[in-house]
Amino acid sequence: MVVLHDTQRGNLARIGTREWALLRYADGTRDVEGIRAAAADGTRDNVSELCEIKSLFTSLHQAGLLQDGPVSTLETATAVGLNASRDERPIESLPGYRFACHGQGACCRQYPTTLFSPIEVARARAVVPARCGAGDDVYGGFTPEFGSLPVAHGAAAVAMCEGACAYLDSDGACSIHREAGARFKPSGCSLYPVVFVDVGEAIRATVVPECRCVFDSVSEGSEAPLVDAATVADLDASVVMTTIPESIAVDDTRHVPRERYLSWCKAWTDDAENAERVGDVAAGLWTMAGRLADRAAEQMPWTTRSGLACSPTIRLFLHALTGALERRVGQDEAWRSPRDMAHRVANAMLVATRALAELPDGALLPAAVCAEHEAFYWRTVLYGHQFLGERPVAESFRWRAVRLWVARQMSRSLPAARLIEDPVWEQPLALVEAVCRAHGLCIAVPIEENHGK
Ligand code: SF4
Repeated sequence: MVVLHDTQRGNLARIGTREWALLRYADGTRDVEGIRAAAADGTRDNVSELCEIKSLFTSLHQAGLLQDGPVSTLETATAVGLNASRDERPIESLPGYRFACHGQGACCRQYPTTLFSPIEVARARAVVPARCGAGDDVYGGFTPEFGSLPVAHGAAAVAMCEGACAYLDSDGACSIHREAGARFKPSGCSLYPVVFVDVGEAIRATVVPECRCVFDSVSEGSEAPLVDAATVADLDASVVMTTIPESIAVDDTRHVPRERYLSWCKAWTDDAENAERVGDVAAGLWTMAGRLADRAAEQMPWTTRSGLACSPTIRLFLHALTGALERRVGQDEAWRSPRDMAHRVANAMLVATRALAELPDGALLPAAVCAEHEAFYWRTVLYGHQFLGERPVAESFRWRAVRLWVARQMSRSLPAARLIEDPVWEQPLALVEAVCRAHGLCIAVPIEENHGK
């Protein structure tokens, strides 16, 4: 089957390979009859009747999965790569942090897909040709990231088997790595979990908190630096990075200039270096979101030390997440394998989120299971400006707080057997972060003015 995944709104649609063959010809240059004629040339199978084709496209349109016009270069993650062979700005890695990977392939089974460039597709097909039959037919293993251009023209999404990358072997090893070495893997896999952000005078490198190894490395990282590159010119041209916009959305009605935002970040960073001053990270994020919404962000520094009690606004977010998870779990039930990691995490999150949403006003939200890991979480998110581009900053802080509470609740309620069966469950925060971001679960939550405390 082919699953069309809308990571912006969390929608997905399941179609058959026959429908997918038709969709591949809907590249904006053909009407419905043209699509039928092109598909008749390109396949030996019986081609659908015109009314069936129209019905397919009508359903996709109603699901919001069709878009007219060329794929915008802004929409394709891989199109925002570096083009800076003479850029000598330094790469500044998260201070004092070294990363070590357990090599258990957890990150290969928690995202909707992994992107391959055309050359990476060609390498994978050559090195492991039998996988999904992609050696003979590229569409057995890959679909375009966006739109319907042939796979060779842009980034491609790899097929998933039981929720994992098709190239992941059952022992947790990458088959491409096993057969040909690390340099044959997609560059995104080699770099993971490192991300880059352009802060003007330098490029910062840090890690996304979406993998157990990221947290385990806080105390037992390797000796190797986060990235080998000393300057931008040393980075691979395919590296994707975030830039900080000139104007930052604080909430739905207010923007601040980049300089002002950076001065807030500096104050937060000074505190983030001191785990004691950070205190309860979830409570700190929630409180800071309230200050931002009240235009009181200047009341720095970050001072929250103790936990927070449940409130109507927190419950608003918990209900929004419960709804998104119920929809996701309900949709996935029909086609995802019971062994699919993302599906299992969504189910566990749903149980935890419902339990939190049932707390009465004034009941304390769960405290951190490991304060050191949560302090690191805030440090890496802040260093990499990872909350930009999700929602306006205040809302993004609130969502991060909610994700921390959900992960804490999961830590308390997960059965011990699950930890023995698969060690990835030892760090629910990494699972919650990965699934929320990759599956579009943190949607807009309208908050009335002066109601965000
Ligand atoms: S290509 Fe290899 S490293 Fe990358 S997601 Fe697939 S199995 Fe994992």
